[in-house]
Amino acid sequence: MLNELIGAGVLGAAGAFGAYWYLKFRDVLPMESRLRAAQKSFSDFTVFTRETMERAYAPEQPEHYGDITNYYLIKLHKVFPDSSMLVFEKGQGQWRLVNYLKHFKVEPKLLTAYKWSAFDRSSSEGELLRFDDVLAGDYQGVEELFSVFDIRSALMCPFRPAGGAAERLVLFGAASPGCFDAAAPYLRFVTSQLSSISRVSDKVIALRKETDHLRSEVSAVVKELDVAGSRLIQRAKERKALYEVVTKVTGPGQDAQNGCSAILNIVAKMVEADVVACLLFDETKGELVVSPGSYGIPDADRVLYSIPVSNHASASVRTFLSRKPFITADAQDDPDVLSQYAKLWEIHSLMIVPISLHDRIIGVMRVGSRRKDFFTPDQLEFLSIIADELAIIIEMFTLYENLSKKAQELAQLNKIKDEFLSTVSHELKTPLTTIKGFVSVILSGEVGPLNEQQHNFLTVTDQSVNRLTHLISNLLDLSRLNGKVEMEFQKVDLAELVRSSVSAMLLKAREGRIDISNAVSRALPHVQADTRWITQVIDNLLINAIKYAGQGAKVRVTGTDKGEAVVICVEDDGPGIPAEEQKMVFDKFYRGKTSANQVPGTGLGLAISKSVVEKHGGKIWVESKPGKGCRFCFALPAAKDKTGQGQ
Ligand code: ADP
Repeated sequence: MLNELIGAGVLGAAGAFGAYWYLKFRDVLPMESRLRAAQKSFSDFTVFTRETMERAYAPEQPEHYGDITNYYLIKLHKVFPDSSMLVFEKGQGQWRLVNYLKHFKVEPKLLTAYKWSAFDRSSSEGELLRFDDVLAGDYQGVEELFSVFDIRSALMCPFRPAGGAAERLVLFGAASPGCFDAAAPYLRFVTSQLSSISRVSDKVIALRKETDHLRSEVSAVVKELDVAGSRLIQRAKERKALYEVVTKVTGPGQDAQNGCSAILNIVAKMVEADVVACLLFDETKGELVVSPGSYGIPDADRVLYSIPVSNHASASVRTFLSRKPFITADAQDDPDVLSQYAKLWEIHSLMIVPISLHDRIIGVMRVGSRRKDFFTPDQLEFLSIIADELAIIIEMFTLYENLSKKAQELAQLNKIKDEFLSTVSHELKTPLTTIKGFVSVILSGEVGPLNEQQHNFLTVTDQSVNRLTHLISNLLDLSRLNGKVEMEFQKVDLAELVRSSVSAMLLKAREGRIDISNAVSRALPHVQADTRWITQVIDNLLINAIKYAGQGAKVRVTGTDKGEAVVICVEDDGPGIPAEEQKMVFDKFYRGKTSANQVPGTGLGLAISKSVVEKHGGKIWVESKPGKGCRFCFALPAAKDKTGQGQ
């Protein structure tokens, strides 16, 4: 029993073993080998895709797209070296062979067009088409091609190249009716890669176009900015030049002739000109004449240049008459210009603008350059603005010339007058002294008794001689002060001078019942002065106060220490001086309207006083309210001690 059982067990085990090996050989081993093959082809495919993708790039130019297509096809051909790779491009209802890879037997008729409905089908379906045996189907139109390439079965897949180029397809051909299981994923991968690369390329190309467009727009804007910038710089320069010109015209103490030449210099600098000249209209000659202060023209040539305004061939004359600016690129070769002066000054480019003042044309400005075609319309406009400013300075210059001529004439007349006065005064003084001497002797009765009438007549004569003597000594003083009188400066006690002047006037004051008082302190600082002349100033002010304040008036002298200066004032409570006369009382020979008829005088006392005080470096002035008296004051600089301190 046991043996039976063991026998059955052994049999069973042997059967199972056999069955195992049977099944292993029949099913498992082929499955395992298929699995290994699949794994290998999967790993090959992965390597292929990775490698090709690593090297793939999206071309930036449509024409470079062919390179990337070739690259893929070469890669593919390496995997399937027995196959043919043909690339077709669609155009006008036909497919043109544009590229191929194959070890062919006979040189194919390449780059010719083919018509095979399968191409269109593949293109419209957009998918992989497979032809296991092309001989079994209709492939008319490509028989010759397929025979050259030895193609029996085919796979084809379309793709769209970049840059809007015509559609293409890849035809993968094999020599035997075949099975394309291995090649299909490769072809699908390659064509889909080419399509997506072309999409990226399209984007890159579009972006590049956009970038180029933007770049050209930016560079256009930059160019415009450059132009605007240089225009702004130009404008700023022009403004600066204009400012300089206006400063020259309006600046203080500006000598008109220098101002004119300075403006022409600025213009020359501004427009980089070689010659700048003003041609002013000379009415007496009826000509345009080059004025002094021109730039780049020697004075010797300047005198040569004058054009009659009747000469219409001259561009300057035409600008003068029409008031229209003129510009030419080459004055030596322009029939509208008299070329002789352009040649004389060796200039080519020329601008001419009118110079007018308050609608009155006074001349033209000519600006020349040795270079041809050098000036611009902008510069012509700038010149027109400058010309207006120039007109003002030319007018100033003309006025200045007229005025200085007049001033010279007046100075000459004044000199003659001063000399005349001085001579006449000297000549009058000697006989007057004689007359006065004899009148005094006769009046004293030394040469015999006088009756009352004779005494009266001689007294009047004596007074008249006194007045005449006073006038003559005033005239002589004035002529000395106008000449080169030397002041004898020394340290002077003004309080002392005032005191002695006041006491000398007491008698005269008493005659007019005038109360004269001296409020000047003895402590008043000393001044540097000429005693004789300053005494005369104090006397003049006191005499005037006594003369004009009238009977019973009060006259008061004060002195004030102002630190740097000492001020002496003589005030009275007389009729005062009207406001409009106050600024004239210091003029020579001026006499007040009312006083001229009532009070004798020469109109020279205050003029002499002013001149004396000013020669001392001081000031003299009057304060008065009509009806409330006058206050005449003068200030002299205080004398300095050795340390430079006032004392
Ligand atoms: P004169 O006294 O000889 O006229 P001055 O030069 O001394 O010449 O004075 C000029 C004028 O000033 C006088 O004619 C007078 O009108 C006016 N004037 C001067 N001092 C006084 C004064 N104290 N009060 C009023 N008028 C005065």
